[in-house]
Amino acid sequence: MSSDFLSVRNLSKTYPNGVQALRDVSFDVAKGEFLVVIGLSGSGKSTLMRCLNRLQAPTSGEIFFEGADIGKFKRIDQIRGLRRKMGMIFQHFNLIPRQSVLQNVLMGTLGVKKTLPSLLGMFTPADKAEALNNLKLVGIAEKAHLRADQMSGGQKQRVAIARALMQNPTLLLADEPVASLDPATCHVVMDYLQKINRELGITVVANLHFLSLVRKYATRVIALKDGQIVFSGKPEDITQEWFQKIYGEGTQDVAPDIL
Ligand code: ADP
Repeated sequence: MSSDFLSVRNLSKTYPNGVQALRDVSFDVAKGEFLVVIGLSGSGKSTLMRCLNRLQAPTSGEIFFEGADIGKFKRIDQIRGLRRKMGMIFQHFNLIPRQSVLQNVLMGTLGVKKTLPSLLGMFTPADKAEALNNLKLVGIAEKAHLRADQMSGGQKQRVAIARALMQNPTLLLADEPVASLDPATCHVVMDYLQKINRELGITVVANLHFLSLVRKYATRVIALKDGQIVFSGKPEDITQEWFQKIYGEGTQDVAPDIL
């Protein structure tokens, strides 16, 4: 059954060097889901994220988002409008180190309004109130005036979440959001992602490495292997046999941390 929210149909991506990163990938995401994409490094997870928000154009296939075939978007205003609805957070946070936490969060409005004052960093009191409110949502409003490079890794990712929220996205794409964090901090950041998913109703699509996190946070999982979907289902249905199909025989010996 296809979803009105996000529907990916027969998506393939071949890079100019001939690497087939995605092969005939089809799946749906319903509004409110917390979908996690898993797979070995190189299986196509990041390519999929980049196709979803049109950082990359797919080679073939369709992506329907909120009713529009976004693969056909060519004009900059269409792509900008799309990116506004899709917030994105990254493994390395992508904050501006020497700016304050608040300034970094306010940067999230730039995708929304391209007015000269905001481009010059002159934000309205309403923008600032919203930024502070978003920082409060992720529990670090008291850090608003500290520099971003004074934050720990987990705090930086929470700033990045607050920044993404400034766009009022309907979908949050999280590309390995906790891959640079220690295990305890992973849970703190994941808890905030779960909170915005549940309380704000923002759909989340995240790439995750650790199966323990997948089991705790995903409402549904798809697994990629060599650019193809090899598993789609509930996290509790990833049995040992599925685990070996997804990650390959002997994976436990080389990567016990994935479990
Ligand atoms: P993952 O996120 O699962 O690690 P990626 O989507 O980054 O996987 O990569 C999938 C495949 O595509 C890999 O073989 C990778 O080397 C290749 N790839 C990724 N980006 C590019 C690129 N810009 N140009 C060429 N090949 C790429």
